[in-house]
Amino acid sequence: LAIRRITCAGEPGASIPTTKRRMEEAWGAKVYDHIGATEIGAWSYECMEQPGGLHVNEALFLVEIEDIETGEIITEPERPGKMVITAFDRIAQPCVRFDSKDVIQWAKEPCDCGRTFRLIKGGVIGRADDITKVKGVLLAPTAIEEVVRGIPELGNDYEVIVDKKGDIDEITLKIEILEEALSRKDEILASLKDQLRLKTNLGYKIEVFPYGSLPRYEVKARRFKDLRKKGH
Ligand SMILES: [Zn+2]
Repeated sequence: LAIRRITCAGEPGASIPTTKRRMEEAWGAKVYDHIGATEIGAWSYECMEQPGGLHVNEALFLVEIEDIETGEIITEPERPGKMVITAFDRIAQPCVRFDSKDVIQWAKEPCDCGRTFRLIKGGVIGRADDITKVKGVLLAPTAIEEVVRGIPELGNDYEVIVDKKGDIDEITLKIEILEEALSRKDEILASLKDQLRLKTNLGYKIEVFPYGSLPRYEVKARRFKDLRKKGH
């Protein structure tokens, strides 16, 4: 197949460097991320420079970022918050300060491509419903995906379950190890735990499953489950 470019939407994968790399290697094509929503329109795109983030199309949209807990407007870079968006070109169904529940953050530097439309770093880094405090630490599921897909011996599929043991939050990460790598299981798990602690500041209970046994998703993946919320 002579596919040269792939544009992805609907999931954060194309902005997670290790997932992007897996897709680019599998297809032999460049992978670009794009974010939009039915209620809003196509509000962002990744340019050819691929700066590790997406430009907001500021000719047609006003994007604001609010602190998830306080609602304070965030203007400084690299502080995640909830996106609130206004579309300038919608007439039939106006979109004024729409809460998309996407969690994003401004990038520190402008893009080398020369566009002055602001960049959001790392694309959509989570959903406001999924970004949650675990043991008092903010956890974005995309950070876990970045680690899992950066380890070549692990399969693409994984699941994260947050639950409470007594008063203590516990995170279980279910992963698959490729069959040919099973002999090095201990070494792989040690490296996985180290990287997770580094990227997310949290400890995990790891459960290893045979390759091919975790759920596969065809549309939007539901890999993150917070069981602490049941009954609320
Ligand atoms: Zn650019």
